[in-house]
Amino acid sequence: MVRPAAVWPPGAAMLEAQGGSHGCERPMRSQSGASSVGRMLEVQPGLYLGGAAAVAEPDHLREVGITAVLTVDSEEPDFKAGAGVEGLLRFFVPALDKPETDLLSHLDRCVAFIGQARAEGRAVLVHCHAGVSRSVAVVTAFMMKIDQLTFEKAYEKLQTIKPDAKMNEGFEWQLKLYQAMGYEVDTSSAVYKQYRLQKVTEKYPELQNLPQELFAVDPTAISQGLNDDILYKCRKCRRSLFRSSSILDHNEGSGPIAFAHKRVTPSFLLTTGSQAQCTSYFIEPVQWMESALLGVMDGQLLCPKCSAKLGSFNWYGEQCSCGRWITPAFQIHKNRVDEMKMLPVLGSQTRKI
Ligand SMILES: [Zn+2]
Ligand SMILES: [Zn+2]
Repeated sequence: MVRPAAVWPPGAAMLEAQGGSHGCERPMRSQSGASSVGRMLEVQPGLYLGGAAAVAEPDHLREVGITAVLTVDSEEPDFKAGAGVEGLLRFFVPALDKPETDLLSHLDRCVAFIGQARAEGRAVLVHCHAGVSRSVAVVTAFMMKIDQLTFEKAYEKLQTIKPDAKMNEGFEWQLKLYQAMGYEVDTSSAVYKQYRLQKVTEKYPELQNLPQELFAVDPTAISQGLNDDILYKCRKCRRSLFRSSSILDHNEGSGPIAFAHKRVTPSFLLTTGSQAQCTSYFIEPVQWMESALLGVMDGQLLCPKCSAKLGSFNWYGEQCSCGRWITPAFQIHKNRVDEMKMLPVLGSQTRKI
């Protein structure tokens, strides 16, 4: 193979000629010091991982054959018009390298971008600033999904190729949740709802207005229930309070993996097991709670109609009677509500179980 004169980074052509050498470092200038920001590494055929310097000179991307760039950084690279930018597919995810950064909500789009580009035969660069944490998390998620690997397996595989790969612990947790959801972010799952609540809690108490999507729709506002939906009503005044889809179950195991593909099981179907120890439902916030939740860290949850005490909430979390801590916690005592099976055919009518 004739090595072109302008190949960048040095050694790229040689690696290609050797074949099977994917994963070898491709040093930009040297292996040490400041130049480590921006080293680019082919972690899988056609999939590169790097830092800010990897995109500093777009012409070099073209020379390596990269025509798709996923940036996960605080700022989008300022690509000047030039030969290297023409036809370049770009995707930008604004993200700081902090444990509290929500990367999870972007993972589906990141993985889809890489997958689509690879399917089109494009070489893809995933980069952040240092090429150590954010980009590593995104590439790990891609490897998990494509090869159906556990987080640990995929991360270990990547660290074998790139020993300095070290995502922050918040991203590790998010990738475990990603795995628990079956490599697809299911925003209706208890796993995701709990995660989103935790993210909001981290911002509290500066938050004066809670995002509306945080609240489940008030069941009195919808007449039709979903099949198998259970409605929970105030035992005292019969006011509809929440649906079974709002229950954030916490009973199986201790880690997020235990939530995998979890669907809420109505408690009346459970005759034994640890569920019996829980005297409360932990649920996502429902619209009628909003005024009670704003500006305070904890308090009581009262029936919006008859003001009967239903339970309590605490943004810092509360302990269930089974021993588990749930953060944040919106807790409804089971003995204050009645379960009613929704009858889809008859619309809003319900029947007591
Ligand atoms: Zn419990
Ligand atoms: Zn009531």
